[in-house]
Amino acid sequence: MVLFVTGGSRGIGRAIVEAAVVAGHDVAFTYREAGAAAEEVVDWARAHEPDARCRAYRLDVRDAAEVERVGDQVLDDFEAVDAVVCNAGILRNGVAAQMSDADWNDVLATNLTGSFYVARHFLMPFLAQGRGRLVFIGSLAQNGISGQANYSASKAGLVGLSKALAKEYGRKGITANVVVPGFFDTDLTREGMASGHKDFWNTYCPLGRMGHLDELARVVLFLASGASSFVNGAEIPVTGGLDWAS
Ligand code: NAP
Repeated sequence: MVLFVTGGSRGIGRAIVEAAVVAGHDVAFTYREAGAAAEEVVDWARAHEPDARCRAYRLDVRDAAEVERVGDQVLDDFEAVDAVVCNAGILRNGVAAQMSDADWNDVLATNLTGSFYVARHFLMPFLAQGRGRLVFIGSLAQNGISGQANYSASKAGLVGLSKALAKEYGRKGITANVVVPGFFDTDLTREGMASGHKDFWNTYCPLGRMGHLDELARVVLFLASGASSFVNGAEIPVTGGLDWAS
């Protein structure tokens, strides 16, 4: 299987790339700025699975033309892509009354519109090959988290996007699903999550802990694979059982 993963240089995306490589898949992944981190991932893949093809591409998902260019390059390099994981995402926290246009627009452009650009690019090749998997990385914030109006709106939008694509393309062999992660230790949560939120998580999560990145990556790989053939338009929580956040 060939996977295309956005934001594979760090955190959850990196864990997905590494799990895919270990499982024997080929992976094209993107980064926006962290070229050195992306190189590290490629080196890691080469060291662990010398036969796997793993390549990094610089891409800002907010730029539709760049998505088209990089998407075409990936299809040239890998001939075909079986599954696309729209993972790239950012936080710009703040209360709504004081949220700047930039913080609103940047989060929506990256998390929602960028995911749409990427999914749209791969729909044509998926239609041509009669199959394809779209996996979107959502968040419990899709139900609303205080101080994250922009992020919450972007993640709720992803659910609508995924469900629409599930209905529009299901009959063509293309599925679309959202994975809803709980709390995972990455740069995003280290830098963007208040300590009160972390305490809340560890107190109220039925498993009493944050998730391990491989626990999330395994679910993503399932959804990217043929094994998930009748899962479509779903939201799959990987939250340890916590189904809300404040
Ligand atoms: P992270 O460690 O901050 O990594 C974010 C990744 O997205 C990086 O690879 C980054 O590239 C890339 N990226 C950011 N802006 C981009 C843009 N405009 N174009 C292309 N790539 C861009 O974050 P993470 O925690 O792994 O989060 C990954 C996804 O999971 C996000 O969608 C996030 O909302 C979601 N999520 C995370 C958690 C959690 O607990 N961590 C919980 C719920 C949902 P560079 O490395 O080049 O900057």
